Amino acid sequence: MTTIEVTASRSYPVEIGHGLLDSLGSKAAALVRGRRAAIVSDSAVYPLYGGAVQDSLAAAGFQVCAFVFPQGEQSKNGETYLRLLSFLAEHGLTRADLLVALGGGVTGDLTGFAAATYLRGVAYVQVPTTLLAMVDSSVGGKTAIDLPAGKNLAGAFYQPSLVLCDTALLATLPRPIFRDGCAEAIKYGILRGGSLFRALQEPRSWEAPEDLIAQCITIKRDTVGRDEFDTGCRQLLNLGHTIGHAVEAGSGFSLSHGQSIAVGMAAIARAAVSFGLCAPETRDAILDLLGRYDLPTTTDQTPEALCAIALGDKKRQGNTITLAVPREIGRCELLTIPVEALGDWIREGIS
Ligand code: MG
Repeated sequence: MTTIEVTASRSYPVEIGHGLLDSLGSKAAALVRGRRAAIVSDSAVYPLYGGAVQDSLAAAGFQVCAFVFPQGEQSKNGETYLRLLSFLAEHGLTRADLLVALGGGVTGDLTGFAAATYLRGVAYVQVPTTLLAMVDSSVGGKTAIDLPAGKNLAGAFYQPSLVLCDTALLATLPRPIFRDGCAEAIKYGILRGGSLFRALQEPRSWEAPEDLIAQCITIKRDTVGRDEFDTGCRQLLNLGHTIGHAVEAGSGFSLSHGQSIAVGMAAIARAAVSFGLCAPETRDAILDLLGRYDLPTTTDQTPEALCAIALGDKKRQGNTITLAVPREIGRCELLTIPVEALGDWIREGIS
């Protein structure tokens, strides 16, 4: 098992290892005074692991209830959120009790936001079940729900009390969902370079995933530790995301987050070459790596349509937008451009 300590407004361990799920109850019992726990999970994950989580919590003395919602991003909305808050109230959860997010990014974001706001804040534990949630979304305390106007528009920075990454859970993960997580891992590889980038070039490295996951989380931990509230260097973690989010929304969410940010990372690399900020070899290394995971690097959507969506993104600040730009593998920089220039970046990136 690997343990990574995150130091932010709340400090907590991220534990990574095979078969950790059974230890959840005893670890949770040490975190809170209360003995009620609400598991929050979706209709695909709960049937697989809900029983084991329930048993582990019950064995540690918790009275357990479970809120299960339909799988998918479309559930990450205000309606599900309010139903979850009402569920917690009806089951008598107090500020001394605990929420357990059992699932991928949608579950983690929804549960975290409920934990941030229910009774003005209760403790929660992240038990990520997808690779994407393990390497990225379960750590760092960004929580949110979507609004009709866009993704993640209502949310809070609210750190979990524990993140438990049981790599055994990856065994049931469908291949395309696994690749989604690889796209976020590739983002960390481009940011850090070196041995992480080289390991990712060999997809067989994932046969022993603990070390790769730990390396990604360490980068995230270091970044969040310096900029918890996303006003500075944490924006580097948005590499590929400004254009990627537009691609994702523009596809009507038929493209996954991982596929979309793959297109976004390819696009920003191409544009960086066009603007003389990055060598063609660096771009080619990025495109080649994405290709090794069968991730897309192009889109049929027009630059104009993508630009219109991107300008509605919350990463925009007034009349400027900050892009994370690859300069070389292992060195990315933030570049703030006027919003009028974004169209040029997108055009250079996707054509
Ligand atoms: Mg992401």
